[in-house]
Amino acid sequence: MVLNDIKSYVKELKESYKERIAILSDAPKLSIIQVGNVEASNRYIKNKVKDCEEVGIIADVYHFENDITEYELLSEIEALAPFYDGVIVQLPLPPHIREKAVVAAIPSCKDVDGFHPDSPFPPATPGGIMKYLQACEFDLAGKDIVIIGRSNIVGKPLAAMMTDADATVTLCHSKSKLSRHLYSADLIVTAVGKPYFLNCYPIHVPVIDVGINFDENGKLVGDCFNTEGRDVTPVPGGVGLLTRCALLDNVIRAKEMRSLKHE
Ligand code: NAP
Repeated sequence: MVLNDIKSYVKELKESYKERIAILSDAPKLSIIQVGNVEASNRYIKNKVKDCEEVGIIADVYHFENDITEYELLSEIEALAPFYDGVIVQLPLPPHIREKAVVAAIPSCKDVDGFHPDSPFPPATPGGIMKYLQACEFDLAGKDIVIIGRSNIVGKPLAAMMTDADATVTLCHSKSKLSRHLYSADLIVTAVGKPYFLNCYPIHVPVIDVGINFDENGKLVGDCFNTEGRDVTPVPGGVGLLTRCALLDNVIRAKEMRSLKHE
């Protein structure tokens, strides 16, 4: 497989989103809730708002101070939710607020991040990767896939999705004998979060690089350096873009589902 040009793919996706929105009675609405002032979160939110504006989704950002109590935050989410098709809470949250309680406060039909077990939406990063592999015509059936990283937002849901698509998935982590597993893989997904982590392994199969890291010069890099001859998704301009698109897709679908219900 040769991984396709992600930027062109994303451009096409966004055009298709605009077309879907154009035939709706009114624009989909997303509320983005932020607590505190984490620099990376500010950047992610700015990108989400920009993406929404580009395709025609109304995105409202609600910012709360770090000292908001969990009870107050949950009340705010409950009050906001009826006015939106999708509700997301930017992570990380301050330690005194339980992520689980926040996710549970979002009605599952509006949980466009797909964090709730009953959410009808796939979590954005694994969902975006699955759609992209489909677009590359990479048939997962019968393939051996190694996923490195077992987080609840990337590794675990992606392993479940790939298993459902008839791949044989090995979900690796910090205690795994990586070399042994990498040896027989047809495709590798790395979600470790260490700059150039994968470069010390001899790899001759395509790599989906989920990692977002900064090197010693402050440059944004993935878990894998894209050297000549390696079929690796770029960072930046790779999985991050797929994730952003998958969120837009989920918000539009949430609106489409609500419109159908009211017909
Ligand atoms: P995470 O919670 O940060 O966990 C990292 C995972 O890597 C853990 O499962 C850990 O194993 C494993 N790991 C650490 N060192 C390892 C080693 N030496 N060998 C094998 N496995 C090792 O995971 P995450 O939240 O999925 O984030 C991972 C990276 O993806 C981060 O850089 C994050 O910023 C990025 N990310 C990007 C996007 C995107 O849209 N591009 C989305 C989400 C996350 P243990 O479980 O044993 O500790």
